[in-house]
Amino acid sequence: MAVVEVVNEAPKQGMLKNVMQEFDAACDFIHLNPNIKRILSVPNNELIIHFPVRMDNGEIEIFKGYRVQHNNALGPYKGGLRYHPTIDIDSVKALAMWMTWKTSLAGLPYGGAKGGIQMDPKKYSNSELERITRRFAFALGDNIGPEHDIPAPDVNTNAQTMAWIADTYMSTKAPAERSKNMHVVTGKPVGSGGLEGRDRATGYGVFLTIRCWAENKKLDLKGRTFIVQGFGNVGYWASHFLQQVGAKLVAVQDAFGTIANVNGLEVESLLDYTTSHDGSIVGFPGSEVVANDDFFGLNCDIFIPAALGNQITEARARQIKAFLIAEGANGPTTFESEKILNERGIDIIPDILCNSGGVIGSYFEWLQNRNGELWDLDEVMTKIEKKITEVFKKVYETSQIKNIDLRLAAYVIAIERIEKAYIQRGIFP
Ligand code: GLU
Repeated sequence: MAVVEVVNEAPKQGMLKNVMQEFDAACDFIHLNPNIKRILSVPNNELIIHFPVRMDNGEIEIFKGYRVQHNNALGPYKGGLRYHPTIDIDSVKALAMWMTWKTSLAGLPYGGAKGGIQMDPKKYSNSELERITRRFAFALGDNIGPEHDIPAPDVNTNAQTMAWIADTYMSTKAPAERSKNMHVVTGKPVGSGGLEGRDRATGYGVFLTIRCWAENKKLDLKGRTFIVQGFGNVGYWASHFLQQVGAKLVAVQDAFGTIANVNGLEVESLLDYTTSHDGSIVGFPGSEVVANDDFFGLNCDIFIPAALGNQITEARARQIKAFLIAEGANGPTTFESEKILNERGIDIIPDILCNSGGVIGSYFEWLQNRNGELWDLDEVMTKIEKKITEVFKKVYETSQIKNIDLRLAAYVIAIERIEKAYIQRGIFP
C-alpha cells in the first residue's frame, strides 16, 4: 500500500470522541442494555510497547508500538496495523472500536482490534523497516495469534509487512507448529499464504457499495464524476473499478498535493506516474494543480475519502458538492460534520460498511490458510461481491424501515449482533 496521508491534515484529535458519539447515538436508538454498553465502551486490552531497533548507522532507536483489542465476543480480535506519526493510544482505541462494529456488521466470526507504530515510515530504509517490523512482531509475542488476534495491513503497511510478521511469529514456534500459524496475519503476499485479490478487496468493496447505492437510487454510474482523497491501495483500486464502469475521476489529493482535470484523470496512467515519482501524483501530465483547501469544494458527484480520519470537518462539510460520500477511510467524517451533510441531503456510505471489503477478504484468506486451500481470483471476487451486496442490502433496508441514515442503520445491525451474543452467554463468573 502506498502512502495515503494528506498534506492538509485536519485536527488529529477526536477520532475517539467521534466513534463514541456514533456509538452513543446508536445505543440510545436501540436502547442498548446499559451493562452491555458499559462493556463495549472500553477496550478489553490496551498494549503499549517500547522496543529497540538497530538503525543502518549502528545507533539504536526506541519505537512506540500499540495494539488495542477492543472486543472478542464474536471471535478472535481482528484489525490492521498502521505506521504513522499521528498514531497514539486514543486513535488506536477508536480504530479498534470501529473494527468491532465492522466485523460484526459483516457477519464475520471476529472481534475488533487495531495497532501500529508511531513513526513516519518514509524516514527509514527498507532494511530498517524490516527490523522495526520484526522486532515489533517479536515484542507482541503471543498477544497476537491465528486464533486470538490477527493483524492485517492498514495505512503505510502492506503485504511485505505482513510477510515479515508471519515469518517472525512462525519462527518463534516449534518446527512442527510453524505452518499451522500462517494465518496469524492476513494480507500476506500471494505465494506466502496470501489471498488472490486481497490487494484490491477494500477498493473493490468501496466500488461495490457505491454501485449498490446507485442501483437503489436508479442512477447510472456511467459518466458520473468522482474525486478521491488518498491515492494509496484503497483510493487507487476504488478508482480503478469506478473507471471500468465509465465513471470519471476528476481530482485527487494525496500527501504531496491536489491535482484536477475536468475531462478526467486516467487512473492506470496516474498509478504508473506515481510509481515513477516517489508515490506523488503532483505533476501528472494534463492535470492542473489545485490548492489543497479547494479540494473539498470541487464539482463532482461522488467523493471518496480514502486517507486518514477526521478529514471532513464542519467547514469542509459545507463546501462539498458531491451528492454521495463513500468512506474508504476509517472515521473520515466527524459527528458534527455529518449533521451538516445530512441537512444538505448528502448521503454517506459509512466506513464500517464501505471499506469492509478488506476485512472480508482477510476472512477468506484466513479460511484458506486454515483449510489448506488455494482460491483463484474469480472465486474471491465473486465471494466478496456476494458478501458486500448482502450486507449493503441489510443496511439499506434497515435504514428504510427505521427511517434512519445508513451509518445509524449499520451500527444498529452491528451492535444488536454483539448484544445477542452477550445475552445468550451472560457474563463470567
Ligand atoms: N485495515 C483494514 C481495515 O481497516 C483491514 C483489516 C483486516 O483485514 O483485518 O478494515
